[in-house]
Amino acid sequence: MARWAEFAATLDAVSRTPSKREKVTLLAAYLRRLPEDALRVACTYLTGRVLPPGDPDKLQIGWSTLVEVLQELSGATDREVSELYLRWGDLGDAAAELVARRRTVPLFREPLTLEATHAQLRRAAAVRGKGAAEFRAAVLRALLEQAQPMEAKYLVRVLTGDLRIGLKEGLLQEAVAEAFSARPAAVRRADLLCSDLAEVACQARRGELAASSLRYFRPFRFMLAGTLADPAEPFRGGSQEVLAEDKYDGVRVQVHRLGDRVTLYSRTLDDVTDSFPELRQPLLQLGPAYIADGELVAWAGQQPAPFQRLQQRLRRLDPLEVAEQVPVVLFLFDLLRVEGQDLVDLPLVERRQRLESLGFSGPVRLANARPVRDVASLREAFQAARERGNEGLVVKRLDAPYRPGRRGGLWLKWKEPLATLDVVVVGAEYGHGKRAGWLSDYTFAVRDGDRLRVVGKAYSGLQDAEIAQLTEFFLRHTVRDFGHFKAVEPKVVLEVAFDAVTRSDRHDSGYALRFPRIVRVRADKTPQEASTLEEVEALYRQQRQG
Ligand code: AMP
Repeated sequence: MARWAEFAATLDAVSRTPSKREKVTLLAAYLRRLPEDALRVACTYLTGRVLPPGDPDKLQIGWSTLVEVLQELSGATDREVSELYLRWGDLGDAAAELVARRRTVPLFREPLTLEATHAQLRRAAAVRGKGAAEFRAAVLRALLEQAQPMEAKYLVRVLTGDLRIGLKEGLLQEAVAEAFSARPAAVRRADLLCSDLAEVACQARRGELAASSLRYFRPFRFMLAGTLADPAEPFRGGSQEVLAEDKYDGVRVQVHRLGDRVTLYSRTLDDVTDSFPELRQPLLQLGPAYIADGELVAWAGQQPAPFQRLQQRLRRLDPLEVAEQVPVVLFLFDLLRVEGQDLVDLPLVERRQRLESLGFSGPVRLANARPVRDVASLREAFQAARERGNEGLVVKRLDAPYRPGRRGGLWLKWKEPLATLDVVVVGAEYGHGKRAGWLSDYTFAVRDGDRLRVVGKAYSGLQDAEIAQLTEFFLRHTVRDFGHFKAVEPKVVLEVAFDAVTRSDRHDSGYALRFPRIVRVRADKTPQEASTLEEVEALYRQQRQG
């Protein structure tokens, strides 16, 4: 069994050294010593998850449960908790202090282990229905009763999904490589194909990385598009043919089908199959065994409906009932595995041909695309896509492989306006007039390394129902209440459009967005995927040149 104390001590040592090399070495030495079960658990936690991607269970222990249990154990008041949180800026550190003040200490303290702790969390994730929330709180309480302060700090950080030790994905992969004397490139590739560092670490230990491939029902990260700077860009450096594909405004999904099982995964790699029961039959008919990539849109007659309509489908408990009110169409644009063969390394032309040969029917359709050779045809395709009610185009290199998790020049998106940013809400304020009772004005930030920097504030351009939902959400996720203004947990991502980026002393980023307008809530994006300060700086420089 692997002691939780040792896990915590390793993470703490890793967080204290500024040297990336040393972080990797420390972690590698630790991972190498772990037995297989503990290795899996540690690797999953290191990636900021409690359960591996694609797991049907979800551990719903949120901030409010964490704070409640910590208060119960320590007797701390709301005010004390909020002061501690603001002092440290981190719930893990606050937890360490609160646990040190525990009112009762168990007579027999059993040392926490990774394996046993994980078994408890797994049980908590599996419970459903009435009493589930109480059960989860009880599991958490039992763990925190046993934990030493340093153990509590990292337990809480695991549960909030952010370890804060300065180890990004690339370095984690390096640590796994170093631990088991594998090539970093081989670890990286395996990790992109299966998106599960725990599995990759076990493969590395057994020397089986070379055999890694996509796997059914193990979602992997999507290939993403860069931004098209101007329509001539794809043809620069020798004329080539590119695929001009409609850019649908919906949510991205990955389909895995094998045997009689069909699963849809969202961009955050969550299983969203149950929200779309009407897609099951047509997806079964498409082919007996495949993994495909596409965009799911709300549909109204002959045209896509606004993106917001889809939200109703994703949140509903009774999907069949809303299925009639909000029909959807799934447009597939890529095929990545068929039966036992991975297609990711084949050029797009070939993948597209294979995709076209599948048995499309009903609400599952082939994405609209055509090859173009010059700027004029590309502009035409853009117009045509807009007339079909789509956002614009994704311009794809026909010779390009599928690169999971990559954003780059192989795919370029073209939509109007060219620049929007995905920002994280950090504060919410009550509106005026008919919005007086609603938290409708949002202060938002972009990422700067591990920190968030405020770049502006916008009155909501959202629909009333969305504002009502956000109000309820922010009230539950307030970290500091100033009455009219609430500092909130950084959880909600908004897409904002704006007229310009200006220099400003008002915000700690040094920049402000001019006339920001909220385009929509990006429920499909996590704060880790929000835009960065570098992007804001680049836009600022671009407009000065332009
Ligand atoms: P954005 O979310 O604005 O950064 O644009 C990228 C997103 O466009 C992707 O993550 C997809 O969800 C979506 N998308 C829509 N149509 C396509 C397409 N034909 N190819 C690739 N991505 C697409």
